[in-house]
Amino acid sequence: MTYDVAIIGAGVIGSAIAAQLSRYHLRVLWLEAAHDVAEGASKANSGIAGTGYDMPTGTLESDLVLASRDTWESTCEALDVPFERIGSLSFAFDEDDLAKVEKLAEQAANAGARFEVLEGARLRETAAGTAPDALAALHVPGEAVVDPIRLTIGRARLAVTNGVDLRCSTPATGFLHDRDGRITHVVTPKETFAAGAVVNAAGVNGDVIARAAKAESFEMWPRKGMFLLLDRAVGERVPKILTTIPTEHTRGVLAVPTTNRTVLVGPTATDETDKTDKSTDAETLDWIWRRAGNLIPALSRDHVIKVFAGLRPAADRTYRIEVSAQVPNLVHATGIRSTGVQSSPAVAGLVCSLLESIGVPLTPRQDSAVRLPRVPRLAELSSADAAADSTVVCACEHVTAAEIEAACTGVVPARSLDGVRKRTRAMAGRCQGAYCAVGVGFILSVQQGYEPWNVPQGEPGSEWGVGGA
Ligand SMILES: Cc1cc2nc3c(=O)[nH]c(=O)nc-3n(C[C@H](O)[C@H](O)[C@H](O)COP(=O)(O)OP(=O)(O)OC[C@H]3O[C@@H](n4cnc5c(N)ncnc54)[C@H](O)[C@@H]3O)c2cc1C
Repeated sequence: MTYDVAIIGAGVIGSAIAAQLSRYHLRVLWLEAAHDVAEGASKANSGIAGTGYDMPTGTLESDLVLASRDTWESTCEALDVPFERIGSLSFAFDEDDLAKVEKLAEQAANAGARFEVLEGARLRETAAGTAPDALAALHVPGEAVVDPIRLTIGRARLAVTNGVDLRCSTPATGFLHDRDGRITHVVTPKETFAAGAVVNAAGVNGDVIARAAKAESFEMWPRKGMFLLLDRAVGERVPKILTTIPTEHTRGVLAVPTTNRTVLVGPTATDETDKTDKSTDAETLDWIWRRAGNLIPALSRDHVIKVFAGLRPAADRTYRIEVSAQVPNLVHATGIRSTGVQSSPAVAGLVCSLLESIGVPLTPRQDSAVRLPRVPRLAELSSADAAADSTVVCACEHVTAAEIEAACTGVVPARSLDGVRKRTRAMAGRCQGAYCAVGVGFILSVQQGYEPWNVPQGEPGSEWGVGGA
């Protein structure tokens, strides 16, 4: 069979494209190197999907963020993805910062975002005990947080429900071309697939795909961001996205209340060379905690339950979203470094129009699903509704056996403990799986046919378990 389109990469960008393409009469192949979707930058970021208030306007990046900002409520409602417009506060602590707040306010006005500059009693009331030394703050009520992992998985489930052929653990390793330089086939270790057009959504490996496809040469590298994650026990004490004043390179240090009430503190932004190195180090984590001290002095580091790093797909040109100049049926969607979650709806729209411009017919289907069925989640139910099924496996995050079973079955099932964690939050709370991993592993083994002593944590080779020889 010849696929009309092959998408390479199942992060938030690839998933947005797959979901959008699934609404047309197209045969779509979707290749992911990792064992699951959302294994790259899309699972380790701040999850801010807001107004674009802090971005200079007039770039492709800001155009796409602004074009996406009113889509969130309907998308997340349809895909059962947590999303909240909780607002943000960017604090000024000295005279320098005050001048920058004014600039930021100008930028917010240019971006068409609603904002106010707060001082005195209004500041204290809105900041609710955070940043007590701040002189003023820019308040942007429309700033929002989304669960970027459930967003990626939700889009993947929609795409697969609509017939997209998702192949995980299937890296694109090469391409075959015709005499005009068009790609005819995508090569993987096990199979070669015929495809009419190819989308390069391989994140930080976008340059590797471009080289393998004999397309233009460009460089990509990881820009590492480290985080500390605070227990949901203190989540209520961080009511909004709190930030120091952004610098040239980052939004500043943030304290971000996630949609599940934990709090992310970070991230850093350092250019690295190793595309696989997600290590953290004590010195950088200390630096983050000191910088965040202004924002959340009342919170103790004892509440940190996890530290981790994500790798932004940095490139010599950000937002390379275009038809390749060398390979006429290759569309790049790469270099989407720091804002890929919040721009992803509009990125998908742009990629679809680029595909149409190279001859992929976008004929809408009438029968495509646009919503996903909801899985009842104990943590999100009222106590009356929760009574029906309350066999709790993960006590920290209130996750039931039924939720874990649902995550291991259906379209785009979890095939690893990490996969269950991403879909349900089991093992993501205070104990980090110390109490519940065995129970989760047992359900996963039953659902996926693994031996209980041979359950994968993540990628093949990471198996562990209980019992057996
Ligand atoms: C610390 C940090 C904070 C951030 N904060 C925010 C934020 O608040 N808001 C926001 O909007 N953005 C944020 N971002 C940026 C955002 O995470 C990225 O822009 C986005 O995740 C990029 O998505 P992607 O799909 O391009 O890449 P990825 O998620 O990395 O996905 C690429 C996928 O391609 C796969 N792949 C690679 N090579 C191959 C191959 N040969 N064959 C098949 N598959 C392949 C990879 O396995 C991976 O799954 C942040 C990023 C970081 C690291």
